[in-house]
Amino acid sequence: MRRAMAEAEVGDDVYIEDPTVNRLQERAAEMFGREAGLFVPSGSMGNLVSIMAQTERGQEVICEAAGHIYNYEMASMAALAGVLPRVIPTSDGIMTWEQIAPAIREKVYTRPQTALVSLENTHNMAGGTVYPTRLAHAICDKAHDAGLKVHLDGARVFNAAVHVGQSVGEITKKFDSVQFCFSKGLGAPVGSMIVGKKDFIEHCRVIRKMLGGGMRQVGVLAAAAAVALEEGPKRLYMDHDNAQLLAQGLANISRVGIQPERVQTNIVIFDIGETGLLSSEFLKRIAARGVLAGPVDGRRVRMVTHLDVDRGDIEQALKVIGEVVGQGF
Ligand SMILES: *Cc1c(COP(=O)(O)O)cnc(C)c1O
Repeated sequence: MRRAMAEAEVGDDVYIEDPTVNRLQERAAEMFGREAGLFVPSGSMGNLVSIMAQTERGQEVICEAAGHIYNYEMASMAALAGVLPRVIPTSDGIMTWEQIAPAIREKVYTRPQTALVSLENTHNMAGGTVYPTRLAHAICDKAHDAGLKVHLDGARVFNAAVHVGQSVGEITKKFDSVQFCFSKGLGAPVGSMIVGKKDFIEHCRVIRKMLGGGMRQVGVLAAAAAVALEEGPKRLYMDHDNAQLLAQGLANISRVGIQPERVQTNIVIFDIGETGLLSSEFLKRIAARGVLAGPVDGRRVRMVTHLDVDRGDIEQALKVIGEVVGQGF
């Protein structure tokens, strides 16, 4: 990847003249069975641009309550897009049409109007959970019937595809817009992609520039993303296997709460409340021994497996966690 970056042919992408970026966008569009793609600096910008291109100020976006666009994107849909999130809490991050339908506004001029539904697949803070493909398709169909667009925050959509054993093109084919990250499990240092119809992508290009996301000789990053796109998806099953190994190992540690059968992809969330440690203290203790994780709340901890983590690392992490939890009293 570093060599591809060093050797990348570049041009000015604000003039759409960077051949490496153009190739990456075409390849991504092809993989997703779409007309066009647009390289953006981050997943957050990809989501925001997609929202801005498909809503008007004063409209509403239906999204899941623990979702990334609602919790980790600095309220940009409100602050910059001028839209109101309408959130739906779920137990597993996966919304059903029965939950979405009642949140759609009545079509009367005295009410703000629903413009967009946004799904997250896999769902990050629910623990990498995956939409059953038929459910995602049904939501898209019904939203379209209701006159709404549907966006996919597919930061980890390749993990979802591996889990269901279908292509990313198949599982996302009914969405109006899809954002995915090169910088998560695919292993590139920077960057995300939006894919969709040609006129939608041209609209996104204008908004990206407005937000300061027009990048000049950015082929050096697109070259890394191209390696991530070709090579990354092939090895995600290993991350899923490692997450299972981690989850099952955690289940064997007393006072650690986890249901390994609920771990579907590369994110493992477990409960350490019964150990008597707060997650902040637990995280400090494992970090001191070289194991990094993040908090979900005071009693839950989130770990992610990725290409820099192998089976030996999982075994080491389990050993450290077992010892730290043992010391909790
Ligand atoms: C990481 C992530 C994003 C994008 O995050 P950036 O840090 O802006 O690239 C969007 N959605 C989900 C679910 C994510 O996990």
